[in-house]
Amino acid sequence: MKVHLVFSGVVQGVGFRPFVYRVATKYNLSGFVRNIGKGVEVVFSGEDDDVEKTIDEIKSNPPPQARIDKVFELDKVDSEYSKFEILKTPEEVSAAILVPPDIGICDNCRDELLDLNNPRYNHLFISCTDCGPRLSVLRNLPYDRQSTSSGDFQMCSFCKSEYIKPSNRRYHAQTIACKNCGPIYKMGNLKGEEAVYEAKRLILSGNVVAIKGIGGFHLACLASSDKAVKKIRQIKNRGNEPMAVMVFGVNDAKLIADLESCELDLLKSWRKPIVIVKKSHNYLISPLVAPDTDKIGIFLPYTPLHVVLICDMPPVVLTSANLHEEPIITDNPPEILTPHILTNDREITIPIDDSVARCVLGKPQLVRRARSYVPELIPLKSKKSVLALGGQMKNTFTFSWDDQALVSHHIGEMGNATTFERFRESLEHFRQLFGFKESICAHDLHPSYETTLYKKELTIAQEFIPIQHHHAHIAAVLGEHNIHEPIIGIAADGTGYGSDGTIWGFEFLVAKRADFKRVGHLRPFRLPGGEVAIRDCKRIAYSLAYQSGLEKFIDVSNKDVLKTQLQKSINAPWTSSLGRLFDGFAVLAGLGPFATYEAELAIALESIYMKPDKLLTFKLEDHGEHFEIDWRYAISEAFENPKNISGRFHAGIASVMVDGCKLIREKTGINRVALSGGCFLNKVLLEMVWTELTTNKFDVYTNFALPPGDGCLSFGQAVVAQARIGG
Ligand SMILES: [Zn+2]
Ligand SMILES: [Zn+2]
Ligand SMILES: [Zn+2]
Repeated sequence: MKVHLVFSGVVQGVGFRPFVYRVATKYNLSGFVRNIGKGVEVVFSGEDDDVEKTIDEIKSNPPPQARIDKVFELDKVDSEYSKFEILKTPEEVSAAILVPPDIGICDNCRDELLDLNNPRYNHLFISCTDCGPRLSVLRNLPYDRQSTSSGDFQMCSFCKSEYIKPSNRRYHAQTIACKNCGPIYKMGNLKGEEAVYEAKRLILSGNVVAIKGIGGFHLACLASSDKAVKKIRQIKNRGNEPMAVMVFGVNDAKLIADLESCELDLLKSWRKPIVIVKKSHNYLISPLVAPDTDKIGIFLPYTPLHVVLICDMPPVVLTSANLHEEPIITDNPPEILTPHILTNDREITIPIDDSVARCVLGKPQLVRRARSYVPELIPLKSKKSVLALGGQMKNTFTFSWDDQALVSHHIGEMGNATTFERFRESLEHFRQLFGFKESICAHDLHPSYETTLYKKELTIAQEFIPIQHHHAHIAAVLGEHNIHEPIIGIAADGTGYGSDGTIWGFEFLVAKRADFKRVGHLRPFRLPGGEVAIRDCKRIAYSLAYQSGLEKFIDVSNKDVLKTQLQKSINAPWTSSLGRLFDGFAVLAGLGPFATYEAELAIALESIYMKPDKLLTFKLEDHGEHFEIDWRYAISEAFENPKNISGRFHAGIASVMVDGCKLIREKTGINRVALSGGCFLNKVLLEMVWTELTTNKFDVYTNFALPPGDGCLSFGQAVVAQARIGG
């Protein structure tokens, strides 16, 4: 019997070909396996029974990172084969499908790493075809040893013997190394495991240690030590932003967090993201690790270094080593960060942060998409090659061509010059890796965003398409779920430049991929002091009270200044932002009033949520062509009764979102709703709105594969641009 098949799905760069080789040779088949554009092509020739067993085994027990979506049968082949071979990838295969993401350490490598009798016991760079760094060590394509920074090291004869043996798990494992060859960890004069033991000792005695990982340096300290955590906050100048904690295994995770099964699966998955979970009652971590919230980000060791570092250790804070809003450090960190530096001599070719994920509605959702998810492709019908530059905060960029989109890793805040430089470098690196040349550039409507200004540097694009921020949010949902019909879009967001030049943020759109109509929004209010009000949220609360005629109920020290700003419109821009409304009500609930990072008060407001008896009234006022959501009643209700403002506010907002959708459905007959924007990172709000909308028979969608915050913008821009040019 001879069969000719293609396995498609996640099958490239994940050890699939050597796996197929091992199974096929086990059953004495002849034929071949190779990568092609659509997936992995095989010819199996042998006894009927053996061929069937081979296919069954491949389907039922693929490598942990692989996912077989489909198996196609191709035309019969006439050739005869004397043995089974792994063939070279044909040159015409698109580079993009062959760049694998970084893969967390596999169980086999982990067992060997911890086995005293294994030659790679405690070898801090153990990897195989099933696991190890990929994108973060890649310089160019094709993905082979010489194209990676592992190629800077000469293989020893032991590693070489495994590398060339097709039946070995390390056959063509490009990052193969052992204690006698390959990169080494160092700390001062100490090397290898000695250096790691020293790092452990330093952490246990209350120090902060900088540690080089896959995509950059982390700062590490004991998670139970207030003093050490405080030290990291000082070093990073990071305000109260939550930090992630690494624990050795699932049992340790269960000690500090209450875990749902979806969260457990995410934690253990080969991608090993930071998973945001609920703190447990016996949470024995310093309250300074994640001060404003009832949640904590935890993750498991994903490199051999982390396994050895965290083994037999209490939970350790592991947060990216960077200064406020600057990108993650990849070269030797300055001594001002910490004198204790555990580093290695393998170059990181592309700096990449940890991914952050969570479970909502029982499903995984990305909050920050980076390591181990990028550069996985997302299908997107593409007529021309489009470069989408993203927004200003939490930036990513997107290439779309050949009916696929490559969304970059999280890069960060474009207002920071060093981070913007990182954006430039990453864009150039990806361009060169994927051989990408845009004919169209999509960018945000905001005239002075760094990404918008960057378009002047683009010389090959023939056309530039500006795209409204919230349209891009909703289009990202349409693209992810392959929806081409009109949809009701709720953008619940912090800041986005509106088509009328004001700051938008709580918008109801009737949107298609190519265009949209703004049919409803929050009644605008003023932000006295502009950007300053995002940090000093009492200004927002005052402004809301003032504009409700209730200013006498609120006590602010600089009342006169604020009043003048509001009366005379001095530096008091209008906004319809839901994020800012959250800030204002958080202050009325007794939180803040200062936010040390964006959304701090909104996060705190969510954390004190309790189910309410009554809700705050957000009145929907229909003006025919569009409607407005009036928050003034809610302000007076909050002053009248300050009890459980969090619960009543969340319920009131969820309820008016549903009212808005019902009104639009009555007028347009549209029954689909897309939810996107940074405020939907609020799990209470998202789950409440979702439940109420589905109870009211709406079909509801949101971003899962990409973050609902601004990390999805560049993809949404690409979706809009492709639709406008007829893709
Ligand atoms: Zn492995
Ligand atoms: Zn070796
Ligand atoms: Zn946004």
